[in-house]
This record gives sequence, structure tokens and C-alpha cells, in this order.
Amino acid sequence: MDAKSTKIALVTGGSRGLGRDIAISLAKKGLQVILTYKSNKKAANEVVAAIENIGQKAIALPLDVSKQSQFESFFNDQLIPAIQQHFNTTKFDYLINNAGVGVYKSFEETTVEEFRQLFAIHLEAGYFLTQQSLKHLNDHGGVVHISSGLTRIIYPGFAAYATIKAALETLTKYQAKELGDRKIRVNVVAPGALATDFGGGLVRDNKDVNQGIAGVTALGRVGLPNDVGSVVAFLCTEEAGWINAQRIEVSGGQAL
Ligand code: NDP
Repeated sequence: MDAKSTKIALVTGGSRGLGRDIAISLAKKGLQVILTYKSNKKAANEVVAAIENIGQKAIALPLDVSKQSQFESFFNDQLIPAIQQHFNTTKFDYLINNAGVGVYKSFEETTVEEFRQLFAIHLEAGYFLTQQSLKHLNDHGGVVHISSGLTRIIYPGFAAYATIKAALETLTKYQAKELGDRKIRVNVVAPGALATDFGGGLVRDNKDVNQGIAGVTALGRVGLPNDVGSVVAFLCTEEAGWINAQRIEVSGGQAL
């Protein structure tokens, strides 16, 4: 693939878990990758090295997606200069809003602070990072948000998290409609439970939770990052060029 046609993707939360696999899957599809991390620079640099081993370029930048007021300076002072330096352009093609945390708390016990933190990380980032991206996203590019199977599957303890992810799914359709003139596609992937660090590693490390979810999943196990990363990467290809405004659940058939 010649340098001019190589697409560039920005993945938030690319240092670990699902975001790591998305970044590597994108590289395997021939894209160059900018991945962000919150504090785990070492893990982010390991993902960069893994991508370079595949033969693609990657860079890692720090970004706290809970801090909407810093998005503009992230773009102007860090992202665009880095793209210019490493990829010799000021534009990119795909934004993957993946970074996130979970709060496992009953509806009754969830505090305003916890709700607002989830709101900032999962919804304000999806809204305003995409807004900031618009002047730097190439036409015919795309946005992929990461939601959750929990917008369909009601699992007590995730009222705030799932409600906010549901709003992200509605936002997906509005963005797809409004950005259609530029041929920018917007989709949302809703993973089922994944064995990652998320929620303190609950799905991966708690045997009861792990087996309970495996037991209600048609394919008989919980998900792994690479069950989902390749689907997100596919959405960032021309082969997926007619998929737009869709919620795509990738859960192995959880809680049918
Ligand atoms: P992990 O905990 O494994 O990884 C989280 C990633 O997000 C890390 O790269 C972390 O960076 C980054 N991150 C966390 N908080 C912030 C922040 N405030 N600002 C910027 N980056 C941040 O989580 P998963 O990979 O499991 O989750 C990824 C996405 O998938 C999330 O949106 C989550 O809601 C969603 N999801 C997860 C499911 C699951 O069961 N795991 C199921 C369905 C959806 P750092 O390494 O620097 O801390």
C-alpha cells in the first residue's frame, strides 16, 4: 500500500483491553494508528511496538477523555503536530471512541459524581471528541463508538453506565445523518462481556461471573478482545462502506 492511500485511525484507550486489540487489528488491515492512553504509557508503547512489528506506523499520546475542556488543546497542540511529524499530513480517516471505565453500583447507591464521571467519559467524549475531529477527518472516513451489550441486556448494577451508553447509540444515528453529506459513516459496536481489566477484571477474574455469563451465551464463553477488535477494524475499511448508523452487537449471542 503506498503512503498516500494509507488510512490513519485514532483509537482512544488503545493501551489495554479492547482498544489494544482494535489498534492492532487496524494495523493488520494496513492502517496507521494513533492510540491514546490515560496514564499507562508503558503499555501504550508496547502496542506501538507490536504495530511496528506488523510493518505499520503508530504513535501513542496521552489523553484523559473525561476532560472535555482539554480536547481542543489536545488536537491543536498534540495530535495534529504529531500526525504532521509522523505521517506527513494534518488529517486522519477514522475515529474510534473506545476509552472507558465501568462503575458497578446499584441504581439506588450511584452518586452524582459517579454518574457525571461516566457521562463525561462515555458520552461527552463521544460527542465532543467527534466534534473536534470534524475539521481533521477526511471525507469518506468514519467514526466507531463502543457501546455495550448492557443497553439491551438488563444486568443490575449498571444502570448509570448502560443508560449513558444507550445515549451514545442514539448519538450514533444523529451523527450518521448529519455527517452523511461528507460520506462519513458512524456506527456503534456493542460488545458483550469481555475478559479485560474493565470493572477491576470482574468478567475475567471472578469465576462465578465468568461462568454465569458463559452459561447464558449461545457460544458458551465470555468474549475476548480479539473477538471484537477485528469487527471494529472491518468497519474502518472500504468493504464496510455501506454500513452506516448501525448498532452492531458482538457478544457471541449473550442473553438471547
Ligand atoms: P480496559 O479497562 O481493559 O481498558 C480501558 C482503556 O481505556 C485503557 O486503555 C485506559 O487507559 C483507557 N482509559 C480509561 N479511562 C480513561 C480516561 N478517563 N481517559 C482516557 N483513557 C481512559 O477496558 P475495556 O477494554 O474492557 O473497555 C473498552 C471499552 O469497551 C469501554 O468503552 C467499555 O465501556 C467497553 N465495553 C467493555 C466491556 C467489558 O466487559 N470489558 C463490555 C462492553 C463494552 P490506561 O491504560 O492509560 O489506563
